[in-house]
Parts: sequence; C-alpha cells; structure tokens
Amino acid sequence: MNVLDNLNRVRRQIAATALRAGRDPAQVKLVAVTKTVPVEIIREMLTLGLDSLGENRAQELLSKYKELPPGVEWHFIGRLQTNKVKKIIDKVSLIHSLDRWSLALEISRAACEKGLTARVLVQVNASGEKTKSGLHLQEVEEFVTEASRLPGLEICGLMTIAPWTENQEDVRPVFRQVRDLSLRLQHNLKARMDCLSMGMSGDYEVALEEGANVLRIGTAIFGRRV
Ligand SMILES: *Cc1c(COP(=O)(O)O)cnc(C)c1O
Repeated sequence: MNVLDNLNRVRRQIAATALRAGRDPAQVKLVAVTKTVPVEIIREMLTLGLDSLGENRAQELLSKYKELPPGVEWHFIGRLQTNKVKKIIDKVSLIHSLDRWSLALEISRAACEKGLTARVLVQVNASGEKTKSGLHLQEVEEFVTEASRLPGLEICGLMTIAPWTENQEDVRPVFRQVRDLSLRLQHNLKARMDCLSMGMSGDYEVALEEGANVLRIGTAIFGRRV
C-alpha cells in the first residue's frame, strides 16, 4: 500500500466527480481521517499538502496534537463526551458531531470560558439506524433554532454518516434528504449553515454529487484500519 498514491487517486477522483457534477473542486474540503494512523505516517502526509485531519476520539486527537506541528486543521468527527469538550475545544477547527442538547450546552459553556466561538455541525441520523448517533431529520430544525441562541457556538451546517452498503447508489436518497434539509434550514432560519459533511471512503462520490462540501476519508487513503 502506498499512501501517497492513494491520496493522489482520491484527489483526482474528487476533482473529476466535482467537475462532472458542475461543482468547483476548490470548494470541496478533504478531511483525512487519521484515527489509528501512526504520527510518522501523518507527518509525511503533511509535507504533501494534506492539512485537515479528522479524529473520532478526544484522547487520540490530543496526543497527536502534541506530536504534530502547529498549522494542522483538526476536525473532531466522533461521539464527543461532555467531559472531553474543554480539552479539545481550543484545538479543533470544527466539531462535526453535535448530536444532543447536553453537548450543545457544554460546548457553549466551555467556549465562553475560553473566550472563543466553537464551530460545530449538527449530526443527522437520516437513515434512523439505532446504532448511529445523531438527530432524526424531523428534530433538526427545532434543535438548530434553540442551539443557535447559545453563546460561543456557531452552527455551520450538517453532518451525516450513511449506512454501510455494497452499492453506493443505495445511499443517494440519504444524502439527498440531508442536503434538502440543509437548504430548508438555510432558507427558514436565514442562517448561513453552508457546510455539508458527508461522504466517506465507500460513498464519497455519491455524497459529492448530492452536495457534500466536506468529505471525511480514511480507508481510501491509509488503507484498512487494524
Ligand atoms: C472513521 C470515520 C470516517 C472515515 O471512514 P472511512 O470509511 O475509513 O473513510 C468518516 N467519518 C467518521 C465519523 C468516522 O468515524
């Protein structure tokens, strides 16, 4: 496995898919998901122009944060325990996984304490799978309305994780529902909320076609996690 070849392949694929969908590839952010990837490999990738990294565990993010050079844009993409919020809040550029009210309150509190504004995405469980975090589609508007009144917190858009399938096409309706919801919220709430984080290694092309502008890709770059 050659990580550099993988990265180039993914970048080419993103550019081609974006262009085919009439989108500007420069408006699509690639977040390289580095969970379980050793820092030596990540360090090498940083020299190749990769700058946005996604982690799903606070502890792992913190230890990598200490070892890697400044200037990395960190994304928190996993389920976030409230007691970890204050440790990561001044280190991450975007929290993708706001999925409950108690977490919104804690992010707001910690952000105000540090005098910063935390940028967050609301996680949507569009497929209704029991094992997945996230708000159901019909709960999102009320949640966003309430949470956007909290100080120290900026809701920048939505995030979703599609169900795993063999066939990318199966998840198109899921992405489409989240995209439509995002447009509806922007309209109804007169909010910017233009960040749409959807698409992973197995489904990022469909996600892009359906409007994603943040892709979270691990396996397709770094190979299978062990
Ligand atoms: C692990 C993970 C990814 C990346 O998944 P791959 O299939 O390895 O690309 C994306 N998003 C979240 C929330 C993850 O936990």
